Amino acid sequence: MTRVFNFSAGPAILPEPVLRQAAEEMLDWHGTGMSVMEMSHRGKEFISIHAEAEAGLRELLDIPGSYKVLFMQGGAIGENAIVPMNLIGRTGKADYVVTGDWSKKSMKEARTYGTVSLAASGEASGLTAIPKQAEWKLDPGAAYVHICSNETIGGVQFHWTPDTGDVPLVADMSSDILSRRIDVSRYGLIYAGAQKNMGPSGVTVVIVRDDLLGHALPITPSAFNYKLQAEADSMYNTPPTYAIYIAGLVFKHVKAMGGMDAMEAHNVAKAKVLYDYLDQSSFYSNPVAREDRSLMNVPFKLKDEALDEAFLKGAQARGMLQLKGHRSVGGMRASIYNAMPIEGVQALVAYMKDFEAEHG
Ligand SMILES: *Cc1c(COP(=O)(O)O)cnc(C)c1O
Repeated sequence: MTRVFNFSAGPAILPEPVLRQAAEEMLDWHGTGMSVMEMSHRGKEFISIHAEAEAGLRELLDIPGSYKVLFMQGGAIGENAIVPMNLIGRTGKADYVVTGDWSKKSMKEARTYGTVSLAASGEASGLTAIPKQAEWKLDPGAAYVHICSNETIGGVQFHWTPDTGDVPLVADMSSDILSRRIDVSRYGLIYAGAQKNMGPSGVTVVIVRDDLLGHALPITPSAFNYKLQAEADSMYNTPPTYAIYIAGLVFKHVKAMGGMDAMEAHNVAKAKVLYDYLDQSSFYSNPVAREDRSLMNVPFKLKDEALDEAFLKGAQARGMLQLKGHRSVGGMRASIYNAMPIEGVQALVAYMKDFEAEHG
């Protein structure tokens, strides 16, 4: 068996020990004679898996007791509607900060549910920089302010937490949750699809402050109503049981790796290997403002896009896959989530050097 270096933006690389444990437990979880996939979500076995997953996430992110953790379905794109359906009703309006494709999409979707304002946009920089907070036009009457903490396509990441006063801050953290320590108490709500840094696709984590529950618009489907899901321990409908189980294993693995501070140090070190190389090269380029560069997704272009195909083919021959950039921006993108070892980034840079020497 050969494992590749998988640079996919998502669904993405998972820690090998987690995959091994899941394989071992596949047919018979802890002597039950069944796979987790075959268990009732109401049975004590799955309830313990679910409770451990929640406890694991709470411990890693130090989530205060005044926040609910929900395991939902619909992905982050689902949350683009679910968030406004649940929160915008408090005042009827919301502020959005656009820093890339994902936050743009979030804002567009929210317009169906209330009055949505663009509080700030990185568009002037071609979405290569986060607009400074001093330039934001925040409405104190907004029900919430929405950001995307890491733009998976553009490779732009917040390295500071916006101050939105009494207005709850809502963040799409799909592609950088668990990559570093965050102060959950600075947010009203955090949501993230699992398939970038937490587990397989199919489960969406929502961390929501208690006082934000109970304001859903009457049109909100019950399965997407945070209050109903919170009251039902995320079991108002059948939750994505297997995805929750794997996420729980990932949480344990991340804890064993040293938790958030260790993860952050690991991610900073990995990203540095790649950015340092990009910065001294005139063959490759990354457009993002240095202080806003993502530690998770590193887009880069070759000097001549006619070489893109050859670059990808050569990478594949060396066991490095899924480096093709998002179709909307072209070029390359290396997603270097938690589970990517530094050896993967070193191998990529070694290949990039060789390719540059050959074609530069
Ligand atoms: C991947 C991603 C999404 C889309 O998630 P889905 O699971 O397809 O709904 C949304 N936002 C961000 C930041 C992402 O990285």
